[in-house]
Amino acid sequence: MPAKLIDGKAVAQQIREGIKAEVEQLVASGKEPPGLGVVLVGDDPASRTYVSMKEKACRAAGIYSEEHALPADSSQEKVLGIIEEYNRNPKIHGILVQLPLPDHLDSEQVLLAVRPDKDVDGFHPENVGRLWEGHPRFVPCTPLGILELIHSTGVPLKGKRAVVVGRSNIVGKPTAALLMAEHATITICHSRTADLPGECRSADVLVAAIGRARMIQGDWIKPGALVIDVGINRIAEGEKSRLVGDVDFEAAREVAGYLTPVPGGVGPMTIAMLLRNTLTSARRAQR
Ligand code: NDP
Repeated sequence: MPAKLIDGKAVAQQIREGIKAEVEQLVASGKEPPGLGVVLVGDDPASRTYVSMKEKACRAAGIYSEEHALPADSSQEKVLGIIEEYNRNPKIHGILVQLPLPDHLDSEQVLLAVRPDKDVDGFHPENVGRLWEGHPRFVPCTPLGILELIHSTGVPLKGKRAVVVGRSNIVGKPTAALLMAEHATITICHSRTADLPGECRSADVLVAAIGRARMIQGDWIKPGALVIDVGINRIAEGEKSRLVGDVDFEAAREVAGYLTPVPGGVGPMTIAMLLRNTLTSARRAQR
């Protein structure tokens, strides 16, 4: 039987509608709407597109958003100054610094400057530490979305063997932390893993966050496994191009129990979780 597809678009839409209703209630009770402050440096078209999508999603949910778009050659001081403004602005409950920043900027210092209680991306070391310690405040949006998709299947994680391929701070590591917190036994794989196909075959839950088109083969997947494909890779196809994941979708579909498509799987969840983190931050600030 082919794998059941996990419809990230539908799950995300449902979550966004719930957030919109909660924001309406908050505003009706006389509170300020949640607010997101965005910093975009440079003119990378993909970053521009992501920021526009996030702002559009905010508007649709009734979340206030404002943006500082800075030229690519902006100084570190300029960027830090804007973050400081957002840190102090009571209308702003979440701060988003669109990554990657241009090479001349010190990303680590920029992320450190974001107030941890407005760090809706969950990248500040204080929030990273809290996640691993078991007292999360803000969890990065893509891993949170992955967990929601797993929950949407009803498959329990307790005692399961989960393999995460990729150890980035944005996806791999926080996803592993979340899976462990739900009592899965985790393995984190990366470019130096000795037997990647073997590790993958041991997984009841397999998360691929590599950035290599269709790398995970059908015969690397344990029959019936739950497979989450985080990858977004653009490949040429004749004159045109299209997006594919890190998993060979057609082959995986014949083996896996559950599978996320690309696009329409993890992607839409990331924005939904950003909205949720911003709403959560506003609620905490307005308590
Ligand atoms: P990174 O490039 O930061 O990390 C990739 C990871 O994959 C690294 O840990 C790397 O290992 C590992 N890796 C690379 N090549 C191999 C290999 N041959 N074998 C085993 N492991 C390998 O990427 P991100 O974590 O930021 O993103 C991963 C993918 O997810 C990308 O396609 C990205 O576009 C997508 N993505 C999707 C999002 C969404 O909303 N759907 C959000 C964020 C990312 P090592 O550490 O050893 O170098």
